[in-house]
Parts: sequence; structure tokens; C-alpha cells
Amino acid sequence: MMMTRDQLLKVIEEITIVIEENKVHLTDLDQAIGDGDHGINLNRGFRAVKEKLESLRDKDCGTILKTAAMSLISTVGGASGPLYGTAFMKAGAVVAGKEYISVEDSIKMFDEAIQGIIARGKASRGDKTMLDVLVPAFEAWKVAFEEGESTEKASEKMLGAAYQGLEYTKTIIAKKGRANYLGERSIGHQDPGATSSCIILKTIVDVMAKGE
Ligand code: ADP
Ligand code: MG
Repeated sequence: MMMTRDQLLKVIEEITIVIEENKVHLTDLDQAIGDGDHGINLNRGFRAVKEKLESLRDKDCGTILKTAAMSLISTVGGASGPLYGTAFMKAGAVVAGKEYISVEDSIKMFDEAIQGIIARGKASRGDKTMLDVLVPAFEAWKVAFEEGESTEKASEKMLGAAYQGLEYTKTIIAKKGRANYLGERSIGHQDPGATSSCIILKTIVDVMAKGE
């Protein structure tokens, strides 16, 4: 077992807190290459998710993630709400009816979440989006378990790949989203969605590490 239903609720609660803490930072990043609302968008979305948490205490992992997904999709106007919402929805479908998440589930959930983002946003790795963090992070996660690593080691490798992906977004031209209007001028700037993805992955790892 990798994560219980209670830990999943804790993950969502903690994401709400760290997104709030990073609201200005994310918005500043989006100010440079977008329209300056990424932090505001996600904060609004996760606050709506938080309001649902109490009603989810005794629900299964699939229901928890699906409910969170619907809140994100319905409250966030920007591109990131539907994209993260789709990711949560697809991940939730993997654990429908389950009260805990296994290692195998986590790999499938991560994969499905990314496939959902790609299906919805039609971006690929290298377009300077959240995918530049999520795809390498997923690959590191999957490979670590294939090589028999512990969850702790897999988490470390996954986050390492995520932060490397985040750095990479500074070096490339945006091909999707609003930043793509800037063309070459988007080089040098860190992608806001890739940044929020790192923050979310770090939060998941932190909750797992606490093992409460
Ligand atoms: P908007 O661009 O509508 O203002 P946000 O500012 O909330 O929405 O989110 C911007 C982030 O969304 C970008 O930094 C990028 O990482 C991500 N993004 C935008 N378009 C796509 C896409 N088609 N696929 C994946 N991610 C995308
Ligand atoms: Mg924006």
C-alpha cells in the first residue's frame, strides 16, 4: 500500500495550503509570459476543492479525486483548471471504489493523468508547459519502481526529474497556451504551470514521507 484514503485527503488539503502560499509567486511567473492569473486561478480552484473535503471523509479514493476534479473544472476559468481537473479525473478513475492506493495504482494514475492533459490540451513535452515537469517525473517514478527502488528513493528521483524539467522550461520557446504569443521572448522565463506541477508533486511526496 502506498497511500490511504486519509492520506489522499491530506494531500489535497496540503495542496490547497501550498498553492495559497505560492499564489503570488505563480501569478508573478504568469505575469511575465501570460496574463498573470495562474496563482489566482489555482487558488480559487483549490479553495473550492477544500470546501468539499469534509463531505469526502468517508468516500473512496476515486470519489475524492473526481469531486476535486469537478471543482477545479467548474471554478477555474484559465487553461490550467480544466487541465488539472482532467488529470485528477483520470487519476480518480483508476482508483474508483478503492480505499487505498497501491504502487501499481500510483503509476497508472500518473500515466492516466498525463494522457488526460495531453488529450485535452494537445501539447507535448518541449512545448513549455506543465508536461515538461510531469512527463519526466512520471518516467522517473515508473523506472524507479521497475528497478526495485523504495517509495522514498522513487520519490527522490521523481522530484529530481520534476525540478530538472522545471529548469528546462526556462530554456525553451512556448508553443502552447498564452505564452506562445511571445515566441522567442518566452525564453528565459520559467513556466508557471510547470512550477505549480512541481509544487503539487512535492506536496504529494511530503505527505507520503510523513506516513501519517
Ligand atoms: P491561462 O493560460 O488560461 O491564463 P493559467 O495561467 O492558469 O491559464 O495556466 C497557464 C499554464 O497552463 C501554463 O503555464 C502551462 O503550463 C499550462 N498550459 C497552458 N496550455 C496548456 C496546454 N495546452 N497543455 C498543457 N499545459 C498547458
Ligand atoms: Mg494565465
